[in-house]
Amino acid sequence: MDVKEVANIVFSKLHQYIVDSESGKGKVLTQLPASEIVDLLNVEKWVTEGGFAPNGVEGFLEAYLPNTQHMHHPQYIGHQVATPNLMSGIADMMNGLLNNPMAIYEMGPAGLAIERAMINWLLKKVGWFKGDHLGDFRFLENNGGGVLTHGGSLANLTALCAARAAISPSAWVEGTPPELVVLCSENSHYSIERAISILGLGKNAIIPIAVNRVGLMKPTALLPACERVREQGKKVMAIVANACATSTGLYDPLDEIGQFCEEHQIWLHVDGAHGASALISPQKAHLMKGIKRADSLIWDMHKMMQTSALCAAVLLKDQRRLHNNFQQQASYLLHDKKKVGFDSIPFTIECTKSGMGVKLFWVLATEGEKNMANFIEHTYNNTLQFYELINRHPDFYCPYSPQSNILCFSYTKYGADNDFQLTLRNKIVERGNFYITSTELNGVRYLRLAVMNKLTAMEHIKALMEEIILVADNLKRKQTPYEIEENL
Ligand SMILES: *Cc1c(COP(=O)(O)O)cnc(C)c1O
Repeated sequence: MDVKEVANIVFSKLHQYIVDSESGKGKVLTQLPASEIVDLLNVEKWVTEGGFAPNGVEGFLEAYLPNTQHMHHPQYIGHQVATPNLMSGIADMMNGLLNNPMAIYEMGPAGLAIERAMINWLLKKVGWFKGDHLGDFRFLENNGGGVLTHGGSLANLTALCAARAAISPSAWVEGTPPELVVLCSENSHYSIERAISILGLGKNAIIPIAVNRVGLMKPTALLPACERVREQGKKVMAIVANACATSTGLYDPLDEIGQFCEEHQIWLHVDGAHGASALISPQKAHLMKGIKRADSLIWDMHKMMQTSALCAAVLLKDQRRLHNNFQQQASYLLHDKKKVGFDSIPFTIECTKSGMGVKLFWVLATEGEKNMANFIEHTYNNTLQFYELINRHPDFYCPYSPQSNILCFSYTKYGADNDFQLTLRNKIVERGNFYITSTELNGVRYLRLAVMNKLTAMEHIKALMEEIILVADNLKRKQTPYEIEENL
């Protein structure tokens, strides 16, 4: 097998796919039944006979690519997964070919050095870095610490585990004490609830904090909640805030929540999986005001930092919290000073881990900080314009003005019925011209956009509104999707 030939076939096919997607050609999504796809890809034949590369590769891609979610298409406005910067995809290929696992330094010095430099860069953006330059790995007083993980869910678990170690150092050996509870927004990501159960607090240990009309945590609800917890003989392990909330893209008031946590000496964890990227933009950083008061933050690079999935960071204000996370002795003191470099294995739930730092580095090094900031500003500001367009239309309703690149709205010509909005969303996705999502906010269902692609422009949103009107009218006339197609 000539691997260069295979790589050339793959790259030229993918390149054409991306160019076509970017120009808005074809459907965003076609969903065939899974068994039909397996047939199309000749899975049975290739597994039995082998000999796939190079002869089968082209045919495979011709069947595979049309059945993907087209993330580069400007009418992909669905989940919060990055339209990847191509440099990140190429770094993925390099990682795959080199296969250096980021658990111990000797298994990939270059990859781990870059990971730690990227962690320093991220800490610097939060204001938790005390070093002189990105390659400064000294164990400095009041320095922050962090590690890259495969995804924000794992990052949330890592951060909450550190919160548990802080309040209950014996929990690692003796188990989680029954009196620990976590206060979190009613509107938090489900991975928080999972992390709390996995940590052995149990779902009942989640004390939901009241939210306002648009799902933001009410800081005034914190004191009464803490008092109730104390009366019950319980102890608050952490307060979890959203920056921003997955459903709405709105930021909890971090500064006020942070002040409360400081006054009551409670660990503040900020779930910034999507929204922490605002920190790199001078124009949008105010949305994260108060972040320095937090104890831990998670930040997904594969959402607004343009890296391919996965690449997430868990950051801690005090690096000792990271060092203490998975054992209750300060391992850095025992670290062999003569040993070159550092391992990441003491700080992560994972053992083998991919070279995620390189992906972020290649994107940053290609774009530069200024363009990265421009991207955040561009998508956030575009979404505000889309909101103005949609909200101006008498048959559309937006429950709030967006702070980020996530927008909720409903089509109200036939009423705001929850089921109707959901059916509308499903029909639109089934037709495949647009990919959008839906969410519930305070029991009301909305259509939802996450504007991840810088190519998504006013013309696409206008076309989406026309599509919604057409589909809604047809649904009301109880026509089949087939008839809708013919009317176009
Ligand atoms: C996406 C998201 C997560 C989960 O991150 P993954 O990388 O998908 O595991 C957690 N919290 C918030 C607020 C998110 O938006």
